[in-house]
Amino acid sequence: MITENNAKIVSNTVPGPKAKELLERRTQAVARGISYNAVLFVQEAKGALIKDVDDNVFVDFAAGIGVQNIGYSNEDYINSVIEQVKKFTHTSINIAMYEPYVALAELLIGIAPINGEKRVMFANSGAEAVENAIKIARQYTKKQGIVSLECAFHGRTYAAMTLTSKVKPYKFEFGPLLSECYKIPSAYCYRCPYKSKYPGCGLACAERFETMLKGELAPEMIAAFIAEPIQGEGGFIVPPKEYLAAMEAICKKNGIVFIVDEVQSGFARTGKLFASEHFDIHPDIMTMAKALGGGLPISAVVGSKEIMDSPGPGQIGGTFCGNPVACNAGMQVLKLIEENRLDLKAQHIGEILKRRLGQMQDQFPCIGDVRGLGAMVAVEFVKDRETKEPYADITKKIIAYAFERGVILMNAGIFSNVIRFLPPLVMTDEQVNYGMDVLQEAIAACCKE
Ligand code: PMP
Repeated sequence: MITENNAKIVSNTVPGPKAKELLERRTQAVARGISYNAVLFVQEAKGALIKDVDDNVFVDFAAGIGVQNIGYSNEDYINSVIEQVKKFTHTSINIAMYEPYVALAELLIGIAPINGEKRVMFANSGAEAVENAIKIARQYTKKQGIVSLECAFHGRTYAAMTLTSKVKPYKFEFGPLLSECYKIPSAYCYRCPYKSKYPGCGLACAERFETMLKGELAPEMIAAFIAEPIQGEGGFIVPPKEYLAAMEAICKKNGIVFIVDEVQSGFARTGKLFASEHFDIHPDIMTMAKALGGGLPISAVVGSKEIMDSPGPGQIGGTFCGNPVACNAGMQVLKLIEENRLDLKAQHIGEILKRRLGQMQDQFPCIGDVRGLGAMVAVEFVKDRETKEPYADITKKIIAYAFERGVILMNAGIFSNVIRFLPPLVMTDEQVNYGMDVLQEAIAACCKE
């Protein structure tokens, strides 16, 4: 049992002997393409803490890549999972239907900021939700083109990978990719593709979409535009307030389905239930996954009835889609988010993160930018504030330094020079501050080298 309230390193080295031994076994058995962030093998996890196999306790700022919003090992969550496991674990929704699938769909309909009547389908991963959103949009519009953003991440399956950026490692040598996919620059203000400055830029990035629909593609060719409201893997890129609404308007004007990928930003992460709510947008389709299952694999595609009902019976779905245990878990996750006001908790954590990171930015010239919404915050490292040359090496060193002191950090960004913070939303102030103390120490140590 984890009795500690904060990080505690007890082994002489990190990783300790048991973790090293497991790494050796892993190397002999597991494909190299499955990457790892640190040599961390979990014994158990509680709240925002992970105890490894050598009894070291870590404060976790990754939350299983934005999954454990309710924190690890929540008792109500565990009980709801056990309750469903005891009844039945799988029948397939296509063979023998069950209430949890319907009930979770009803709950998502109630909270998704989509206009009008809505319908839901479940899948197993974020990528699978994206695949289905694309299939549905293509069939609804009878068009083929899909526009996505540079710096985007939508998953590793073929359609999702095609829409993703960062060629190496995500797409390299995996072609041919999905056809009829196009990219436009994202609203990455810190590295504005137009070398402009908001708000004087007049949202050149949104204007680019409109120009593209005149210059290179006819609206009749484009089925959908897909975007993360805050680009996650791309480096927690927060667009200007009006950008997404402008993109939505262009979609509406041109009969293009507006798909918002909330896989990483959803379920209270940004201080609102969905990041879309910060931008006053109303997508046609939303993709959700990660935090929804609280650790069990489930994803959802939620959209307007008209669009979602476009495919006929059997055209979408899959054996495990909407597993009853995962659906039941999803209902419990939504209940816990509401009861514990995890949206407010995300705002609170985000305030501490932003304040501490802002102070570090004043202190260390290698910090180029601090950005984010709620508890989805990132810091971007540069070699020079003028040239903004990405500083990937230091990012790696800082993450390694922090790990040895019991803090789990994760990188991001197409230049791999961003550290992103995705803490469980139950992280205590003391734990957040411990993480920030270690980060400060790490930057001071690594920047000196
Ligand atoms: N969309 C977004 C925005 C994501 O962040 C991710 C995963 N990081 C995915 C899709 C893919 O999700 P999964 O890994 O569950 O396939």
